[in-house]
Amino acid sequence: MPLIADGPTDLVSLLIVEDEPRYLDSTRQLLAPHLGRIDTAMNGVQALAWLSRHHYDLVLLDLHLPDTTGHALMAHLREQQPASRVIVMSGDSRIESAIHSIRLGSYDYLRKPCEPEELIKTVRNAAHKVVLEQANQLMREQIEQSEEWHRLLVNTSPDVIYTLDRDSRFTFLNESIGRILGYLPQELVGKSYEVLVPELELERARYRLNERRNGNRATRNLELRLKRKESPLTPNHEATVTVEISATGMYRPQPDGSGEFLGTHGVARDISARKQAEATITFQAHHDLLTGLPNRSLFNDRVTQAIAQARRHGQSLAIMFLDMDRFKLVNDTLGHLVGDGLLQGMSQRLRDCLREGDTLARIGGDEFMLLLPLVRSRDNAAFIAQKILASLKHPFHIDGHEIYSGMSIGISVFPEDGDNLETLSKHADLAMYHAKDHGRNDFRFFTHELHRTLSGRLAVENDMRRGIQRGEFEMYYQPQVDIQSQRISGMEALIRWHHPERGLVAPGDFIPIAEECGLITPISKWVLDVACKQAKVWRAAGMAPISMGVNLSTREIEHPHFVDNFIKSLNNHGIDGKGIEIEITESTLMRDMDGAIEKLRRLAELGVKISIDDFGTGYSSLSYLKKLPVHTLKIDRSFIQDLVASSNGGTIVAGITAMAKGLKLNVVAEGVETHTQLDYLESIGCDAYQGYLFSQPVAVDNATKLLRAS
Ligand code: C2E
Ligand code: MG
Ligand code: MG
Repeated sequence: MPLIADGPTDLVSLLIVEDEPRYLDSTRQLLAPHLGRIDTAMNGVQALAWLSRHHYDLVLLDLHLPDTTGHALMAHLREQQPASRVIVMSGDSRIESAIHSIRLGSYDYLRKPCEPEELIKTVRNAAHKVVLEQANQLMREQIEQSEEWHRLLVNTSPDVIYTLDRDSRFTFLNESIGRILGYLPQELVGKSYEVLVPELELERARYRLNERRNGNRATRNLELRLKRKESPLTPNHEATVTVEISATGMYRPQPDGSGEFLGTHGVARDISARKQAEATITFQAHHDLLTGLPNRSLFNDRVTQAIAQARRHGQSLAIMFLDMDRFKLVNDTLGHLVGDGLLQGMSQRLRDCLREGDTLARIGGDEFMLLLPLVRSRDNAAFIAQKILASLKHPFHIDGHEIYSGMSIGISVFPEDGDNLETLSKHADLAMYHAKDHGRNDFRFFTHELHRTLSGRLAVENDMRRGIQRGEFEMYYQPQVDIQSQRISGMEALIRWHHPERGLVAPGDFIPIAEECGLITPISKWVLDVACKQAKVWRAAGMAPISMGVNLSTREIEHPHFVDNFIKSLNNHGIDGKGIEIEITESTLMRDMDGAIEKLRRLAELGVKISIDDFGTGYSSLSYLKKLPVHTLKIDRSFIQDLVASSNGGTIVAGITAMAKGLKLNVVAEGVETHTQLDYLESIGCDAYQGYLFSQPVAVDNATKLLRAS
């Protein structure tokens, strides 16, 4: 037998079992240089003793032993050390004996006596085989190990890894298919991938996934929905999962340089979470988070589409601009959480007034817009506006507060009032201001006259800038009358604007806009200067000492240099603070109590008096008044009007008056128009009043006449 391989066999172990001592010895000597460990046994007992302690790669076995047969020993060996190779030595030359040995699993057979070279060759051959086999075994183990690693890697991959045969049937899927779609790999192997694709996506999937292309042209990152396995255990699962899938053709190279198409392999990644996040972001980009309503950009989109549609079909549509009345006051006095609650309640109420297909959007703090895509007539739009206003008759209950909130609504209609988004929006905005002008909580349609007379917020702003430069403002004065003596005790300075086109404009129509755009600062400076100057003139003319009331807006008091500017004005006109009374509304104080206290104290130290204007309209309690250097409460006109309308109003006015007296405050009633009102006020001990009954606000000349007469 030729040598199978050359290589070190010095680690191969051998047990020689031979009863003839000389033969045993010579065999051992012959083989010693070629092998590692060699042990010897002269009978079955010795042999068994060695075998119980060691493993032998080779056993050289004499069949003829004194205490047992070689065949019995072989049977034992096959049981205990099946990896050992047995080379049988026998003097028995019969072929049956050799066959029997081979049946029992001997590796080779040597006839005794044998030539030394043959012995060596046979044993070395066997030793080489052992070495080779061991190397093979090691390799097999390594391969198994690395296969296991690969399987582990493939199965723990978060992505589905798959192969398809040339007929698009799965040949392999890793276990991720279970996590993502709920299938066991073996449930799908042999089936077409199409069982996973929803009907609607089949066409696209076929085009991209029957993939024969590879390299750069292969399908990558195809977004596809796959069906999840239906399962009674997870009935609420989405029926499909969005994956990003790749597919590449597999080819076996052919001798002619071409390739034989074998199928497709690829990876599918679950991207539902990402899709969800994208959907959320898209939603947020187009919606107002507080109310969940569409925002301006989505609203504009819808309007643009609706206009196109209406134009095509010769239909009309309406746009409404809705502005909450006095929302700022709620926010300032009750806090932002209540303000937020009111906005949410408001959007719900508005929604309840609408039909499917209408779009309601929140486009700013307290501003909403509404698109009514199908209005047959203006009456239609008016009906919706009335419905909205009616729904606001009931109060909102937020955080323990009962809040009434009105809306001013402006409406523009396509195509009469404009044929594009911008014009329609602008005109609805204008109409809304018109509604506010007419007492709020009302709606107005855009009209072309309106456009001419009142040109919206921006125009007002521009006009106002020009008005300041051109001196279009004038101060009017309204007397405050002491109820006991019936003499004028003070004058309230009230600003007027002589608009070149609009005529005399009341402060309610421009002061809020001036506050918003910052023009209030120059206006306030003007007001203060004029009031100080006039106070000095009247004093110098020897009139009885009266107080000069000056209204100050919230914004002005919040100005960091408010007190310094105030003092500067007094100094410029050479008058002290006594005789000046500033009027601040409740909401101003509530907004920044601490800041206001500090500033008002400094003014009070100069002798300036402080009165709370429109008292009763805010949501504040009287308790804060103790903290402030307040001198006067001016009871809001609405309560005085109520004196006639109901007896309830009387109790409120009486209550406020009594409390104010308790706090040692001066009480002035605003808006007194009738003798009945005046009599009542006198009966409850009110100090002074102001109102048309005595005089409307008048220009300076008339005010001076009134003073002289008093
Ligand atoms: P206010 O300080 O409460 O002023 C009283 C308002 O009630 C004045 O309106 C006055 O004309 C009106 N009024 C007085 N008596 C009667 C009456 O018997 N019946 C009725 N129906 N109304 C009466 P006006 O002048 O339009 O001012 C409105 C508001 O604008 C003022 O309310 C004040 O808050 C603000 N305001 C006026 N002038 C200025 C100013 O110079 N600066 C600032 N920041 N605000 C001003
Ligand atoms: Mg006032
Ligand atoms: Mg007032």
